[in-house]
Amino acid sequence: MVQESKTGLELFEDLDFKGTKKWKKEPPGTCPYCLFAGSVNGIEILGAYDGTLFWECKKCGERMLRFTKETTVKHLSKTANLFIDLEGLDTIWEQVPN
Ligand SMILES: [Zn+2]
Repeated sequence: MVQESKTGLELFEDLDFKGTKKWKKEPPGTCPYCLFAGSVNGIEILGAYDGTLFWECKKCGERMLRFTKETTVKHLSKTANLFIDLEGLDTIWEQVPN
């Protein structure tokens, strides 16, 4: 079964960012949602961006932006293309005659 790949915007919406404030270089020292100190870590998405793409609180699970929505969606879109490439590979395999 071929899973339909998501667009960058759909991936962004799945991540469910609550706020619009951006922490560009460093994550907030204290989570603005659960107020737990030192709980916010950088999240890297393989294939999307070489480095932290957004921040996530390991205490409450809320995610925070590092870049603008537009930039984050743009990076996430690269992973959407990556999934399409992988599906393309599957198709190639299916076409090889036994
Ligand atoms: Zn938190």
